[in-house]
Amino acid sequence: MVGENLTKVRERIQKAALRVGRDPHSVKLVAVTKKAEIDEVRGAIEAGVTDIGENRVKDALLKRELLDSHILNWHMIGHLQSKKAKDAVRIFSVIHSVDTIKLARAIDKAAGSSGKVQDIFIEVNVSGEKSKFGIAPGALEGFLKEAGRLKNINIPGVMTMAPFADDAEKARPYFRELKKLADAHNLKEVSMGMTQDFEVAVEEGATMVRIGSAIFRGEL
Ligand SMILES: *Cc1c(COP(=O)(O)O)cnc(C)c1O
Repeated sequence: MVGENLTKVRERIQKAALRVGRDPHSVKLVAVTKKAEIDEVRGAIEAGVTDIGENRVKDALLKRELLDSHILNWHMIGHLQSKKAKDAVRIFSVIHSVDTIKLARAIDKAAGSSGKVQDIFIEVNVSGEKSKFGIAPGALEGFLKEAGRLKNINIPGVMTMAPFADDAEKARPYFRELKKLADAHNLKEVSMGMTQDFEVAVEEGATMVRIGSAIFRGEL
């Protein structure tokens, strides 16, 4: 089941990339396991998944105990509190959801004391929805300047979530805007696209898509 779903998702990523002349290998699939049972996650790993996305530090810690975690890259995709920065730095390859300088500083400090340079993405609230985390697009430049002084973090990219919509096309302008912002600041990683809209995200330049339901619930 999970294997078949993954095959479908990968095919769709590939087709979307080829439609716009992109190399399908330039898109990394992050399997979002927040609602998956541990056996389903194991199934995904057997089917070749190497990158796991979780939105809570606690859940990631639990799953790491149960999985062969050293062969996996762990991605923090949910809202992170500064006080959890230390645990997050210990276990995640990338933190996608950095949305305040305070959090960037906490991550920098935790990374410094564990001798790591932590990759982080800045979460941008492109749609401006009040319910969403993320900085305003116009604040990115100042944020990068400020965060650039922190020596134990590296910022290769940005992340966004499009508004919920029944039509994936509605996400396109937001994805296009994020890609434009990334290009304007020479950031090469663009984390965007979920089950509802990943093909549009790939067409608009996503380098990482974060997909849960399509893989673990067959919601394609
Ligand atoms: C849950 C989640 C996803 C995956 O959503 P699906 O609709 O299950 O594909 C992606 N990104 C974030 C930030 C999430 O919280």
